[in-house]
Amino acid sequence: MTHESAPLLAALAGATEDRIFFDLAGIESRYDTLRRELPDVAVRFAMKTCPVDEVLTHLARLGAGVDGASPSELEQALRAGVPADRTHYGNTVKSDRDIAEAHRLGVRDFVTDSAEDLAAVAAHAPGARVFCRLATSGDGALWGLSNKFGCAPADAVRILRRARELGLTPAGLSVHVGSQQMTADAWHHAVECLADVLTALTRRGIVLDHVNLGGGLPALGYLDRYGRPLEPPLDKIFAVVREGMRHLRKVHGDHLAFVMEPGRHLVADHGAIRAHVARLAERRGPDGEHQYWLYLSCGKFNGLYEMDALQYPLVFPTHPDAEYVPAVVAGPTCDSDDAYPQGHALVPVPRNLASGDPVWILATGAYAISYTTQGFNGFAPLPYTCVGEGHP
Ligand SMILES: *Cc1c(COP(=O)(O)O)cnc(C)c1O
Repeated sequence: MTHESAPLLAALAGATEDRIFFDLAGIESRYDTLRRELPDVAVRFAMKTCPVDEVLTHLARLGAGVDGASPSELEQALRAGVPADRTHYGNTVKSDRDIAEAHRLGVRDFVTDSAEDLAAVAAHAPGARVFCRLATSGDGALWGLSNKFGCAPADAVRILRRARELGLTPAGLSVHVGSQQMTADAWHHAVECLADVLTALTRRGIVLDHVNLGGGLPALGYLDRYGRPLEPPLDKIFAVVREGMRHLRKVHGDHLAFVMEPGRHLVADHGAIRAHVARLAERRGPDGEHQYWLYLSCGKFNGLYEMDALQYPLVFPTHPDAEYVPAVVAGPTCDSDDAYPQGHALVPVPRNLASGDPVWILATGAYAISYTTQGFNGFAPLPYTCVGEGHP
């Protein structure tokens, strides 16, 4: 399946230097589809996936809010036109100063998962609305997010009761089933867990108004480490989420409102990098075996941070009819992690690639800019351009 629009492909074809392109019309159509599939869910874009002003402004005009993880992210979102009442502080890790700063900016919803963080929210954002994040296993996701975030159900009940005692508003529960979640089961389990905690809270007289189903919705355009399309079961995921919301409302009341924090799903397939070939080289492996290595101008530190877990589709626009050979693909830096790891399948590449030939790297709209270093080994961050203005 290809997700690249005509304007995005035209921009890639027209580029003469390395650059990353974001397709605003593509992001808009992904957002529209999400709203159609889950009409009752308010979208808070996880901005760390693509902290680009034009993207934030475009999504804000469409009605989306933002999940921010630091005062400076939240400030950027507000500057880009996201209304404060469509933002929340979704990071459970924050200093006293971060909390006070976010509160000063007008942010009123805070996510927590510990008594210590909760007390700090009460002290530095008095009266705030509090969401408690539940831990998930992360099973089925490419990146599980399981250890660092969330608490057990019993602790969530304790934290939200304590929130009330501290003069805060216990507002919701949140979960994140892991990034690039490939199974619908993950949301099914999350809903079961949410239902149990809501029941325990109701018994103690605490009625929440929100459930935040987090991020994790998959991108569609990646290849797995064997170079095959990943093909996540998106329709099934939407069906399970719809059924889960119906169930939670049936048991806990129609007043329950739902939020999601998609990041990758909205932007990954609508960004692409124009890179170039540094060199195609023939080498010997550790056992003397012959190998091709394709060194690209982009790698782990300037656009392809997630190359350890997946493969990105490559297009060699100047070599449509070439003879292909299997190669290890690597970035340009002096770090040996800057390459597809052992266990990734070799990638077919044209045998006659020359230094400087253009390469398009698709499905790179998520976690590219934010995971770029400040010029590691002198390889500069990619400049970006937004295409496909759209008409929000
Ligand atoms: C990173 C993050 C997201 C977005 O995750 P995706 O898998 O990119 O959708 C959402 N919510 C929180 C709290 C996050 O940290």
